[in-house]
Amino acid sequence: MKLRKFTDKQQKQLKKSAMEYMLVHWASNVDLAKGAKVFAAGEGCYIYDVSGDKYLDTFSSLITTTLGHNRPEMKRAVMEQMDQLAFFPNYHDGFTVPIIKLAEKLAEIMPGKLEVSFFLNSGSEANETALKMARQYHWENGWPHRYKVVARKNSYHGTTLGTTACTGFPALNKCLQPMLPGCVFAPPASCNACELGLKPANCGLGCLKAMEKVMQWEHPETISAVIMDPLPGSNSGYPPPPAGYLQGVRKLCDKYGILLIFDEVQTGFGKTGKWFACQNWNVTPDIMTVSKAITSGYLPLGVTVTTKKIANTFRKPGSEFSSGSTYGGHPLSCAVALANIEIMQKEKLVERAASTGKYLKAELEKLYKYKIVGDIRGMGTLWAIELTANRKTGAKLGPKLNVGTFIRDWCWKNGMILRNNGNTLVIAPALVITRAEIDTMLGKLYQAIPLAMKHFGL
Ligand code: PMP
Repeated sequence: MKLRKFTDKQQKQLKKSAMEYMLVHWASNVDLAKGAKVFAAGEGCYIYDVSGDKYLDTFSSLITTTLGHNRPEMKRAVMEQMDQLAFFPNYHDGFTVPIIKLAEKLAEIMPGKLEVSFFLNSGSEANETALKMARQYHWENGWPHRYKVVARKNSYHGTTLGTTACTGFPALNKCLQPMLPGCVFAPPASCNACELGLKPANCGLGCLKAMEKVMQWEHPETISAVIMDPLPGSNSGYPPPPAGYLQGVRKLCDKYGILLIFDEVQTGFGKTGKWFACQNWNVTPDIMTVSKAITSGYLPLGVTVTTKKIANTFRKPGSEFSSGSTYGGHPLSCAVALANIEIMQKEKLVERAASTGKYLKAELEKLYKYKIVGDIRGMGTLWAIELTANRKTGAKLGPKLNVGTFIRDWCWKNGMILRNNGNTLVIAPALVITRAEIDTMLGKLYQAIPLAMKHFGL
């Protein structure tokens, strides 16, 4: 790759226009006040900004670019498809070759009986579609009163109104009230900060019991679906579910005739050391949503995948699934998804993520030598380092102690993109990250954490 050069004047103009003519997604006006960061190029796990500075991206460009940037096979896949047919919609009775090939491939790699795909452009749309699919499934089967959704606190499901209503972070919907009716919340299964105040050793899966209570209180026969991320995402710091929890949720759904939706937008495609996170616990949902790493970030794509049993509900004239999107399953996106899956299989990247996970766990746990490192959680290439005031009690650092942000900013100044969610540091690199790159990343953490402790007098 030849880096394109930008003069100082061009760089300034780009930054000025970014601030003047745009509103940025999930903006941080505090960070924006320090200036826009403008990226221009990428190669492997590295990304370059317009001034030519190079950064090791430990957050894989928002947990998408699992193959790393600038893979020739991915570019070739786009060009080859572009040469044939750049676009035709998957609409009415029309299909394109790559969308069919990708549907076949997904049926092959998805767990259990998840075999039928509905294609979209993003994770939010995939989840929105899953919610609609569950409702219409019940409607077609004569249960129109099943409209409610049980979601979990501390889970993020997207940015449309429907998925925002199911997102368990009140801060994200406080300015959008009232939310859609019927979204109700169960406690998360986060043993690191159990909302019920229980200890994992003898909790008896109180969070599962609490979910059943929510279902009973809401009248189970009015609930269409449970939506959850089997391994909650970066916003919650990847707390793995306790043993038996996901199996328990599956049983509750079966008991009450509720569909189970797993949102694997963030966790799908190898990151947990299995193709899909739910395979770590051998639990299969009725509907699974994927996006992000399905194309390794090269083009947008989201997919809602379900079983033939559910899909067959929509096969009769008059009961067609009532949803659609012009660009959903864009042929170029499907072509890169196929190329991505082929590379993942050829290079055994899922197995590689599992072994990276073992290495990361062993190496990250050495950070416990710093007393502010309270908890380290994760699997595969998805990890969170929670900084606390007291490891034993889990007491949080004071609200004015922006230690995570200090560490993030230090890393940025020293050539590394690190995501922090307050005082939780998130590490979610590409599946292709090398041991040398991991060691570079760890080296920076070893520098930044003690510097932060010194800075805040901890
Ligand atoms: N669900 C989860 C678990 C996610 O992590 C995200 C994106 N961060 C979404 C849904 C929404 O996906 P998108 O941003 O592609 O709409």
